[in-house]
Amino acid sequence: MPKKFETRVEETLGAPLSAVDLLSLQVNMGYRCNMSCRHCHVSAGPGRMEIMGEETVEQVLFALKRYAVRTLDITGGAPELNPHFSYLVAEAKKAGCHIVARTNLTVFFEKGYEHLPWFYRDNDIEITASFPLYFDAGVDGVRGEGTFVKSIRALQLLNGLGYGDGRRRLNLVYNPPGAQLAPSQEGLEEQYRRLLGGYHRIFFDRLYVSLNMPIGRFKAHLEETGSSEKYLKALEESFNPLTLGGLMCRRLISVGWDGALYDCDFNQVLGLHLPGRYPQRIADFDLDRLSGRRIRVSEHCYGCAAGQGST
Ligand code: SF4
Repeated sequence: MPKKFETRVEETLGAPLSAVDLLSLQVNMGYRCNMSCRHCHVSAGPGRMEIMGEETVEQVLFALKRYAVRTLDITGGAPELNPHFSYLVAEAKKAGCHIVARTNLTVFFEKGYEHLPWFYRDNDIEITASFPLYFDAGVDGVRGEGTFVKSIRALQLLNGLGYGDGRRRLNLVYNPPGAQLAPSQEGLEEQYRRLLGGYHRIFFDRLYVSLNMPIGRFKAHLEETGSSEKYLKALEESFNPLTLGGLMCRRLISVGWDGALYDCDFNQVLGLHLPGRYPQRIADFDLDRLSGRRIRVSEHCYGCAAGQGST
């Protein structure tokens, strides 16, 4: 019988998992995306209609300004497809926020979105880009035909605009291609630098290593391939108590496309709202009440705490 994640946390910390600080607001602008990647935990795609509306965007800006939240971390789907994306960025910038945008890179080649690399540069936005493998068959197998070539072109374009050379930050995100644990972050980062630099003259700041969470489209993939039980067991057996201090839910709060608050994007997908004693919506955001909140954990949390953890 696998041990519950909650129990593992209490054995390690002597207390339930709680937030230690609230440095970032992670805003999910919606599930619409130009791609349908196999590992996508929000099951984003072109057919998804959930998009953050104007009123919710204003509530996000109000909270950022009122509580001087340091970082706005924008995610999706492809957040750029939300018609209020540019407005949110411009207003958050005026409020003095550091902005991080998570992009799939291929959206730069969609009609009407070709300006994005220059928009990112002009607003000094830190970019965190999905780039799950450094060879074409690996990337295209997970993310769709042609993705590798577009991603390479996009990264070269960003390098030409001062990303990854010390002027503007460019981070890449690695996910294993399937139901495997990730290799060592340091070794993989070194390999990415050597191969992307050597073959494509691409440079970047950091490589983040992220495990595939057993939720959303990846969960369906696990079930279809009969590997669900084995994968969950591997995650549980690789629990690393040292990862608990750095879990992202301890320093951010996630805002869903509809304005609901969650401990993280993963809990959002699972519909795991904050416990009832805390504010539930961005309209009721209260930094003091949310900063030391108790975090709602469940068995998918092993995906954040396995091996070296998801960086
Ligand atoms: S899934 Fe969310 S709540 Fe669970 S450990 Fe990861 S970040 Fe924290």
